[in-house]
Amino acid sequence: MISSHRDRRPWQGETVGDARAPRIDYDPTCYLCPGNARVSGNRNPDYRGVFAFDNDHPCVGPDAPDTGVLPTGPYQVRRADGLSRVVCYSPRHDRSLAELPHDEIVALLEELQRQFRELSARPEVRHVLMFENKGEVVGVSNPHPHCQIYATNFVFRTIELEAEASEEYLGASGRVLFQDIIGTEETDGRRILASRESALAFVPYFARYAYETFVAPRATHANIAELSPAEVEDLAAVLGETLVRMDNLWRMPFPYIMAFHQAPVDGALHPGFHFHLEIHTPLRKPGLLKYLAGPEIGGGNFLNDTAPEDKAAELRATPTTHYRGVIPSEAPALRSESDEGRDRDRPDRGPSA
Ligand SMILES: [Zn+2]
Ligand SMILES: [Zn+2]
Repeated sequence: MISSHRDRRPWQGETVGDARAPRIDYDPTCYLCPGNARVSGNRNPDYRGVFAFDNDHPCVGPDAPDTGVLPTGPYQVRRADGLSRVVCYSPRHDRSLAELPHDEIVALLEELQRQFRELSARPEVRHVLMFENKGEVVGVSNPHPHCQIYATNFVFRTIELEAEASEEYLGASGRVLFQDIIGTEETDGRRILASRESALAFVPYFARYAYETFVAPRATHANIAELSPAEVEDLAAVLGETLVRMDNLWRMPFPYIMAFHQAPVDGALHPGFHFHLEIHTPLRKPGLLKYLAGPEIGGGNFLNDTAPEDKAAELRATPTTHYRGVIPSEAPALRSESDEGRDRDRPDRGPSA
């Protein structure tokens, strides 16, 4: 349900400052920074690029306990196991995906291709979910840029639904559902955010959240591992541009949940499944959360109070270079004596970093 008539006015452009602590490229207390010890006692190597490791507190792991108790009545139980991994995008503690140079986004996607190949080959794995939670409003307190991988012996429900819908649509029409979505979005054009030869990003017609965005290759692939090097390049470019626009919208790190939707690897064919990324932010405006309430939790349908066309227009109007500019590769310079003096004269002012 779209109820944008309740708030027709376009966003007036009010911005909030970047409330994050001063940027540091290395945090001695961060369990993801190079060389630091993690809670398991393992120490991170002095990594220089992308770094993946098995999650120390996995949601799904090979040692999942059996409950040993059989459920009664209509209830069912099954072991949920698999592997959980963490993938650090960069040794830099302060560099979000939106701020990574293009080559580093490409390197990340290539690592995710390798991870997919390795994990999907495991006999117990039926699906590989890759996702990033970013920002305190989605419960992430560590700003070190990273994503997670759950390779599970079950298929997550949204993926199951997408696989069913894709197969049903293909059977009924002979066409790939996502190809028809791409075609319709491009013909309309108002919700397209970024476009390259083999990849694009758009706010879908059916967006549930304001700024909900899909990023996808144009060609139909079941998963990220099937992308050619040229397709990875374009996907990285489109993803980078989209995330820069999101950060620039309110001149703050845009919080989001980003998920890679890939076909199950459960032995079935899943014809028509089209690999894509979905980015959802719980924010409607800076500081204004979209609460899931009566319609969503009570009734099971999403109520979007904004028109996807309006939200796409806001993102399209933002610059494609990040508002924080290029981050210097050295550590921040120490403040000079004269800076200290100025601050003492003006005790009401904090450091101007
Ligand atoms: Zn860190
Ligand atoms: Zn999806």
